[in-house]
Amino acid sequence: MNAEILTIGDELLIGQTVDTNSAWIGKNLAQYGIQVSRKTAISDSEAEIISAVNEAFQRVDFLMITGGLGPTKDDITKKTLAKLYQCGFRRDETVTAHLENIFARRGRQLLEINKQQADVPEICEVLANEVGTAPGMWFDQNGKVLVSMPGVPNEMMHIMENRVFQRIKNRFKTPEILHYTAVTIGVPESLLSKQLETFELSLPPHIKLAYLPALNTVKLRLSGQSDNAQILESEMKGFFEKMCETCGESVFTKEDISPVKYIARLLIRHNIKITLAESCTGGYIANQLVTEPGISKVFNGSIISYANEIKHNELGVPEDVFRTEGAVSETCARYMCEAALKKFGADIAVSTTGIAGPGGATAEKPVGLVYVGIATKNGSHVKKYHLFGTREQFMQRTANCVMALLKDLLKTEFNTL
Ligand code: ATP
Ligand code: MG
Repeated sequence: MNAEILTIGDELLIGQTVDTNSAWIGKNLAQYGIQVSRKTAISDSEAEIISAVNEAFQRVDFLMITGGLGPTKDDITKKTLAKLYQCGFRRDETVTAHLENIFARRGRQLLEINKQQADVPEICEVLANEVGTAPGMWFDQNGKVLVSMPGVPNEMMHIMENRVFQRIKNRFKTPEILHYTAVTIGVPESLLSKQLETFELSLPPHIKLAYLPALNTVKLRLSGQSDNAQILESEMKGFFEKMCETCGESVFTKEDISPVKYIARLLIRHNIKITLAESCTGGYIANQLVTEPGISKVFNGSIISYANEIKHNELGVPEDVFRTEGAVSETCARYMCEAALKKFGADIAVSTTGIAGPGGATAEKPVGLVYVGIATKNGSHVKKYHLFGTREQFMQRTANCVMALLKDLLKTEFNTL
């Protein structure tokens, strides 16, 4: 089944607000087997709203609208919908009570303009909005459903999650949808699609493979639709295993989580202590690790050794390494991780040193060059990468490379997989 999204608001058209609502709605409707076939953004104008709704209903039976439900004069969606459906208004008691409650709690006087937020077109069903003042509205006329919600993202999400999804399930015959996702690191999308060519051709029409690249990772997402959830699940599991087998070592994880999260959880589960000596990533990897709850069990700190002076004073990198090979070198990376391992008493120490750009490159050391060192009690090794992108992307890509190295190490030296 197809649906369309209409976002209303002058601010969306002048670039003052970026439309995140339709992205969220599109993603979430997909879970119910509803495909968004078109999204439109229009100004707060009666003529635009009327023509956009009429046109959408010539193509689809389900239209989601956000925006223009506020109490101010520029918000005209509600009035326009009543005109479109040729109906009057009624004051909804539940919404009135909710408004009185909110205003009392905030110690504000409820003005007539605020009370009018409880006025809804007679023919609609009210979608209560506990987190805001404007309720959502569900219109179901002549086989066409229109849902109108506030533009404020968290209010829209609240109404969708608490009111709309259930109604969609009751109103439309929605199929079961399942997703299985694997994450790969460091293999280009084009290469993956070549590897998976035969596999993709073997997929039945109700199961589809999507490639979702981001930095140096590619998510491989299998999505299936069916009326029978059980059959679909066993079918999908089979295809997913076949897909992962085909990709072999390229598959980093068979869960839909970030590489850092995957590694952090593994470290915590097996109580393997980690530390870092970061130069070019400036603490980025440490920052990513600490986003995982419970990481303090295995991470007690690290060092940002950005300047040579810190690399020398705190990590003992000999000064002649800077003179002969430079700070961006295999030797420097090795000194850094080995020293950090001792200094912080960890099981694994990782070092990064590279050229994030845009300046600082030489003929032998281009922007994007990075050395990653890894030390354990069994010794250390360093890997060289040539990455690209902005400084931020360079750090994110480096972090992903580090996670791929850590995964290998956890498998070979720590038997965790
Ligand atoms: P309110 O009752 O708060 O006035 P409303 O339905 O009138 O709600 P708008 O006034 O259109 O909503 O927008 C409220 C806020 O939500 C604004 O800050 C606006 O920038 C933001 N917003 C509106 N539409 C979108 C959208 N499509 N994506 C993201 N943010 C949006
Ligand atoms: Mg608006």
